[in-house]
Amino acid sequence: MSPGALLHNRTLSDREIHDAIHEALHTVARVDFTKPIIRNASIAVLYEEALTHEKGTALTSSGALVTDSGAKKGRSPKDKRIVDETTSTNDIWWGPVNVQMSENSFMVNRERAIDYLNTRNRLYVFDGYAGWDPKYRIKVRIVCARAYHALFMNNMLIRPTPEELENFGEPDFTVFNAGEFPANRYTTGMTSTTSVSINFQRREMVILGTQYAGEMKKGIFTVMHYLMPKAGVLSLHSSANEGPAGDVSLFFGLSGTGKTTLSADPQRFLIGDDEHCWSADGVFNIEGGCYAKTIDLSAEKEPEIFNAIRFGSVLENVVYDRETRLVDYGSSKLTENTRCAYPIEYIPNAKIPCVGGHPKNIILLTCDAFGVLPPVSKLSAAQAMYHFISGYTAKIAGTEEGVTEPQATFSTCFGAPFLVWHPVKYATMLAEQMRKHQVDAYLINTGWNGGAYGTGKRIALKYSRAIIDAIHNGELKKANYENYPIFNLQIPTNVTGVPPEILNPAKTWGGSQDNFQQTVTKLATLFNDNFKTYADKASQEVLAAGPRLS
Ligand code: ATP
Ligand code: MN
Repeated sequence: MSPGALLHNRTLSDREIHDAIHEALHTVARVDFTKPIIRNASIAVLYEEALTHEKGTALTSSGALVTDSGAKKGRSPKDKRIVDETTSTNDIWWGPVNVQMSENSFMVNRERAIDYLNTRNRLYVFDGYAGWDPKYRIKVRIVCARAYHALFMNNMLIRPTPEELENFGEPDFTVFNAGEFPANRYTTGMTSTTSVSINFQRREMVILGTQYAGEMKKGIFTVMHYLMPKAGVLSLHSSANEGPAGDVSLFFGLSGTGKTTLSADPQRFLIGDDEHCWSADGVFNIEGGCYAKTIDLSAEKEPEIFNAIRFGSVLENVVYDRETRLVDYGSSKLTENTRCAYPIEYIPNAKIPCVGGHPKNIILLTCDAFGVLPPVSKLSAAQAMYHFISGYTAKIAGTEEGVTEPQATFSTCFGAPFLVWHPVKYATMLAEQMRKHQVDAYLINTGWNGGAYGTGKRIALKYSRAIIDAIHNGELKKANYENYPIFNLQIPTNVTGVPPEILNPAKTWGGSQDNFQQTVTKLATLFNDNFKTYADKASQEVLAAGPRLS
């Protein structure tokens, strides 16, 4: 069966879906490496390898491995390419997110990567799975020259049992990570020495010129964002957890809005912190680990994450004391984007296997630096869709001196960089699933309160947590609501554990009411301008769910 059949036939049996995904992924290419390969090595072996052979690696006082990702301390979305080939070309949302690359340029990069890998004395392979539902999981092989990269993916993918490893066979998808070696800038279609390219037909990804390990993680996410919708399964950039009664919540949000932080909840079971799928059977995590931001991390505010940083965890680009080996989480000397990758079972209440039923609540997270969006509002189905398609958050443009103006970011489906199909495909599937399973939706602003950046301050984590508790214990389902004009949002008048005066931005605004109105108008205008791109594809109801400026 061709993988395209998945698109047109919704009544395939489980077996057929499984076969089609795997047939589609049957690896074409075999590579002969000239050096011995260290496959699925233990944590201890990978530690020794990294500490012996890799610059910038060290042990911390809690037993984590500190690594240095080199010049790149974050992803390089502008250097991502998707190969334009016949099996997938009509499926792909071509444009700035998915930039075309020729099959020939891909092969040039691939050969460059493999030639480089063959110059190394030590090569590492990690074989694991993506997707906790056996019906949909794919077999992934990572080939790399750094023990750091092998350990990172050991933590982030689903670790096979010894039996599974023995019978692993050929992978469905292979990543060649030659990130220490640059791409050739003169390769057609490339503009820098960094290249992250995916070829769906060959089932391969090639990385050159960046050692940032997150490229592998988000690369596999991109692959799943292609394959899962093809199989009728919705893939989502979200965290997920489950209450003691079995109720599942999904948390959507762009980077830094709180997916990882807020899903680590001592009262709930963690399903996953970043990448999920929602099938006819419920939700499943794609990954076997979490990738938490560690900037300003403290044991008091985020004990679950703090305590997950131990033997086996990979800490990236943090500053530490040479003598005591204590990590200075407050330091952004190397980067603001300091991170730690750890296996999901390092979170005490992780749910293994990482699967759950159909979500009861959907929480859209945003970090609004304008201080305009309420700390929590209840959304109608149309509003949930409007905000999902918009994908709003804000960033502080803090690099230039004196510039404190927040910058609005709209990233559709709360994850545009990882989408492969047109965003409407994911949004339509989400709307359908939400309707079918009667999911409640809330918008939570984990950003500024009491004024915009400069006047107000970021809402305390304990208040965001109290709001989420009130969603989970049913308090917000029956609360009293008031209307918040222009954005037309429903704000609860009271939430247990939250000072009532902070719930309505109009009432808590630090500056003048004129200034408040101007800021609301400004953000509403940005929302409306952004949504113009989707106006012809969205229903009247969804269109009407956006801010209204008279
Ligand atoms: P990514 O997609 O990059 O992994 P994320 O959505 O998982 O991002 P987090 O790692 O949870 O984001 O980052 C949220 C950051 O904001 C954390 O460092 C957290 O400590 C901080 N923070 C401060 N105030 C709040 C709040 N009220 N709610 C949530 N997080 C907060
Ligand atoms: Mn996260």
